Amino acid sequence: MSLIFETPARAGAVLEIDLDAIVRNWRLLARRAAPAACAAVVKADAYGLGAAKVAPALAKAGCRFFFVATLDEGILLRPLLAEPVEIAVLNGPLPGSAEEFAAHRLLPVLNDPGQIEDWARIASCEAAPPALLHLDTGMARLGLCEPEFASFLEGGRGGNAILWRGFMSHLACAEDPRHPQNALQRCRFLDGLRRFGAVCTGSDASRDSLASLAASSGIFLGRDYHFDLVRPGAALYGVNPQPQHPNPMRQAVRLRGKIVQVREVDRGQAVGYGAAHLMAHQGRLATVAVGYADGWPRSMSPRGLAKIGGKRVPLIGRVSMDLTIFDVSAIDPALVRPGAFVDLLDEEYGVDQAAADAGTIGYEILTALGRRYHRVYHGEAS
Ligand SMILES: *Cc1c(COP(=O)(O)O)cnc(C)c1O
Repeated sequence: MSLIFETPARAGAVLEIDLDAIVRNWRLLARRAAPAACAAVVKADAYGLGAAKVAPALAKAGCRFFFVATLDEGILLRPLLAEPVEIAVLNGPLPGSAEEFAAHRLLPVLNDPGQIEDWARIASCEAAPPALLHLDTGMARLGLCEPEFASFLEGGRGGNAILWRGFMSHLACAEDPRHPQNALQRCRFLDGLRRFGAVCTGSDASRDSLASLAASSGIFLGRDYHFDLVRPGAALYGVNPQPQHPNPMRQAVRLRGKIVQVREVDRGQAVGYGAAHLMAHQGRLATVAVGYADGWPRSMSPRGLAKIGGKRVPLIGRVSMDLTIFDVSAIDPALVRPGAFVDLLDEEYGVDQAAADAGTIGYEILTALGRRYHRVYHGEAS
């Protein structure tokens, strides 16, 4: 059963995705990062917005380097992006999967000595794609730690078989420009890059190795953080890369939910599960066909909002699986009827605002966007 292509009349909500906004966001980031090259991170199905639509639109705009998280994501994307466009897989090869990287022309990011060893075996026997080496500079998530890196350089590096396309690390605190860890990680990255360069990029084939440190927020830390290649994800999709400043990115999604039922209620009426809300006044409620199963977080209760007829209406009671209740007492009753739309995400109340109301981050709002929504793509490439 697939609900993805539900028609607008049957769908409880419509998710509009603006490919032009994503392309403009990429161009803005690319200009900021120039002369460094600008990749696009399209992991998790382009942060929930549809990698099969987003990646070709960005490739058409000139993006030549894409990152996904997993091998499966890379395999799905490869036929949609003609070489020489490169696709790198951040999680690298899990045990037993290295051959598939080569078969699908995917570049692995090698994160630990085991992945390097596996890849060295492939690299020496086939025309394997080049790889990127990931150094952990202070996040303790993926990448070689310092002792592993040191022993890799000393010769435990799987021979000279591996062609290197890149040397990368990832910043843990880039959205806070004052955080001291940024400079610390950059320092370790520079030191690692120098040692890596001395040992690994002597051969002609590895000459084109790219140094890459910055994701969306790192781009805004300035030129010192750009190196050869930047790797934005979230900012492409409208998340503010610098939360303490006005958002320079365009919103890429609009979400509208449909009213299923309207009712008049008395003062004192309990609303929703747990009777968590009691009406303080007589009024009118609209029940909208979007719930936590659609990725509208339960933690939105009781702060969330919607907009109808240009006015904000408060979310009341608990978000339930398929439904959310709004107090529409202040809205012209002619606008509030079954089938009418309320705006849940728009240019004004974007993913970051929704995230703040739900106690999370824009990344989580985007990647949770539901499968039941009727999806409409706008923009040149759709
Ligand atoms: C997810 C990810 C990115 C993109 O990060 P954003 O903050 O979304 O721009 C870049 N590099 C790595 C290693 C990542 O895991």
